Amino acid sequence: MSGGWTGSNRRNELPADWYTRIRPAILERDGHRCQSCGRPATDVDHIGDKHDHRPCNLQALCGWCHRHKTSQQGNRSPNRRRDTEARTGERHPGLT
Ligand SMILES: [Zn+2]
Repeated sequence: MSGGWTGSNRRNELPADWYTRIRPAILERDGHRCQSCGRPATDVDHIGDKHDHRPCNLQALCGWCHRHKTSQQGNRSPNRRRDTEARTGERHPGLT
């Protein structure tokens, strides 16, 4: 499964050009729109494997959807669930 082409032993899973190239490219590709709710996107999310930085595994998301997805995988509902969000709180997902 793990290809090893990045050879990463590091904890930081993001490649060096994540912020300079990959991330802007994905935002550009998706028209700076959140792929979940359609609002302006600010984040780039790994759809599946967090170690897979290919464009096909990445999507633009707004900050809210990104947090929501990270804390509740699989739910693509665009509805705001303020209750749930407030109760689960801000669980920092890491670096993505
Ligand atoms: Zn969104």
